[in-house]
Amino acid sequence: MIMEPEKNQMEITQQDEWKIIYNEWDISKHPLREALCTLGNGYFATRGAMEELRAGNNNYPGTYLGGGYNRALSKVKDKTIENEDLVNWPNWLYLTWKIGDGEWFDITKTEILEYNLILNLKEGVLERRLKTRDEKFRKTTLVSRRIVSMHDRHVAAIEWELIPENWSETITIRSGIDGDILNRGVERYSDLNGSHLEILDRGELVEGGIFLTSITNQSKIRVTQAASLKVFLDGKETGKTIAVNENEKAIYHEVVVSCRKLATVRVEKLISLYSSRDTALSDTFTEAGAKLKELSSFNQLFQEHRIAWSYLWHLSDMYIKTTGNEILLLRLHLFHLHQTVSENSIGIDMGVPSRGWHGEAYRGHIFWDELYIFPFIFYHIPELARSLLMYRYHRLSKAKEAAAQLGLRGAMFPWQSGSNGREESQEIHLNPQSGRWLPDHSRLQRHINAAIPYNVWKYYQATGDKDFLASFGAELILNTALFWSDTAEFNEEKARYEIKGVMGPDEYHTHYPGSDKPGLNNNAYTNFTAAWTIRCALNLLDVFKGEQARILAEKVGFDKEIISRWKDIVKKMYIPFTDDGIILQFDGFDNLKDLDWQKYRKTYGEALRLDRILEKEGDSPNFYKATKQADVLMLFYLFSFGELEQMFNEMGYKFKKEFIPKNISYYENITAHGSTLSQIIYAWVYARSHRKRSWLGFRKALMSDFSDVQGGTTPEGIHLGAMAGTIDIIQRCYTGMEVRDDVLWLNPRLPDDMDEINFQIRYRSHWIKLNVNRKKISIRFDKGWAEPVTININGKEKVFDRNDEAEFDLE
Ligand code: BGC
Repeated sequence: MIMEPEKNQMEITQQDEWKIIYNEWDISKHPLREALCTLGNGYFATRGAMEELRAGNNNYPGTYLGGGYNRALSKVKDKTIENEDLVNWPNWLYLTWKIGDGEWFDITKTEILEYNLILNLKEGVLERRLKTRDEKFRKTTLVSRRIVSMHDRHVAAIEWELIPENWSETITIRSGIDGDILNRGVERYSDLNGSHLEILDRGELVEGGIFLTSITNQSKIRVTQAASLKVFLDGKETGKTIAVNENEKAIYHEVVVSCRKLATVRVEKLISLYSSRDTALSDTFTEAGAKLKELSSFNQLFQEHRIAWSYLWHLSDMYIKTTGNEILLLRLHLFHLHQTVSENSIGIDMGVPSRGWHGEAYRGHIFWDELYIFPFIFYHIPELARSLLMYRYHRLSKAKEAAAQLGLRGAMFPWQSGSNGREESQEIHLNPQSGRWLPDHSRLQRHINAAIPYNVWKYYQATGDKDFLASFGAELILNTALFWSDTAEFNEEKARYEIKGVMGPDEYHTHYPGSDKPGLNNNAYTNFTAAWTIRCALNLLDVFKGEQARILAEKVGFDKEIISRWKDIVKKMYIPFTDDGIILQFDGFDNLKDLDWQKYRKTYGEALRLDRILEKEGDSPNFYKATKQADVLMLFYLFSFGELEQMFNEMGYKFKKEFIPKNISYYENITAHGSTLSQIIYAWVYARSHRKRSWLGFRKALMSDFSDVQGGTTPEGIHLGAMAGTIDIIQRCYTGMEVRDDVLWLNPRLPDDMDEINFQIRYRSHWIKLNVNRKKISIRFDKGWAEPVTININGKEKVFDRNDEAEFDLE
């Protein structure tokens, strides 16, 4: 349903193009800001919590390690369930102060005269400026700066400037590493066991500084954090640090300083963090101690960090000229993408999580959201893409096991993946609206097994990396194809293949009305992409002819007979259509009831969690033609009309161009956009036919985390799929960029509110600068060393070599 935007959610009131700035103090808004102000480096991330506060009071200092999971048992409703969580590690942020014998500083108990929180995207620094007045009318200014080093993944630092505005007295500064914590970042999970850590050791380091080593109680991941504390007055180091052990799970350092009115006290807290998952590691304690010793000063670390960020921005900034300040939020999205996965992640066994390492929602698990996130990485940091695809490859044997358990060959990857690749989707979930625990069937989203081969193939097209394809990618494609061909059943009556008992991307539909058996038949998206996977496997056998194809066949376990079944499935896959060209989401979708949208929107607003609302009322979305997110329309996002037409033709269906707008408007009217991924798809599919609607979808997706459109989900972690989706709309959708038959096609179409797009991509080892406006497109190749490539601009083809540049008229 096309909804007029709610004005307050759609306004970007921020003026700066590189800084997110909050000027008013409101603790109730802090959880959202804290998630949006998370700092990370692709190895670990820490939320933008306030240094002086422990968890509670709208402050949650979560620190997460990419791929750092632990399993725990919980008892819910007499049932014991196991969940694998993204572990919240000891809080290294802890830093506070007190005047004389007074209380430790607490922002919630003092008068705030001035407050600014500034997330500087260009330099990757979080700054907080506070002016406070206590009950004795002592005014103090506190400026805090924080980084999580992009230059050295094991390092982070805080700098404080504390200025006594109208007083002189002795103060104590306390810094610590606090391991007295739990996983408690998501309210809905609070009945579940959130205790993952044991503290192994803590104390002072011989060479100065404190350390704390913790270990997860099931996965046995060990982490050592070490911290130094230095205090400067009049530019000189002052005071003696004393270690304080008053809590068995934490370690603190204190320094006493005599403050003078208006003399700035500068505090530096530098930290190192190592985990037993690291490469090139002796033990975490040795490495963390040695690293801490190496660190010289905040300024030095900041300088190196700034250079690392400027290099990242140089390669990946996307300049857009629009009627508003969209560029700021686009950069915020790029920023969080780099902070979740970066060159620092390469070689580490981790995938790309749907919620970043920014909070505990969805437990840091890896979903099909890769589909939305990878395109930027493919065209900017292909080495990283390869490493993230290896996350899947390393779990191929688990996926084969999962298929075998169902009596199928090939590989069945889990809907939610964590440490070892087993299914991590929860068995039951809480509906916070009704307070009821309900079975969770989302694991029936088998379509993840099309997303993975699709990503492998797209990576290969963007990079031409045949070695990856030969060594790993081909196995992923062939094994998932084998899984699909064993899953598909031949229906004699229809003379077609069917896939039964699954869920599509739309998570509101899990059962047929009246049935207690979960799963639906012939979800069009699943059937089509399964056929695509099989077709891709067949194409692959053409790429690897002869000996290599034979070795692959042996390794994966298929033969001539299976290949002929594959060929048959590609021709006879069943897709439910209505007579007038509507692709039905699944068999029987058209028999469901219509929903009174007005009624629910009036009460519950725009982004509807209909599943929760209806369940609370004793009803269910299963009865209605009401979808959570784009499902059928995903096909128009993943495939061009040409590809759809060709594949449908091969299947024996006539797919006409006019079916596309028909399907879009049919589904738009019954979509709740209960997932932030949904608006990405609407922005995409409307880009050429209804530019205003496309722009609206783009802006909604752009705002979804910044204004927390789902009312409380962003504080639990950003939505990386939607963030990366907005980047990809600029990168591929509005430029019409796609790779087909070894040619890079460009066919730009800018929305009315956008005058210019400027960015560069990495394509088959070239760096290519693109500048697009309404009139022309300019293309400039960097010097580089790669082979020439062909680009087709609106039908005009040209071969480009290193150093080449050219301009093409678009009018
Ligand atoms: C969406 C899924 C998505 C998941 C993680 C859910 O709300 O329905 O499509 O994969 O969130 O982002």
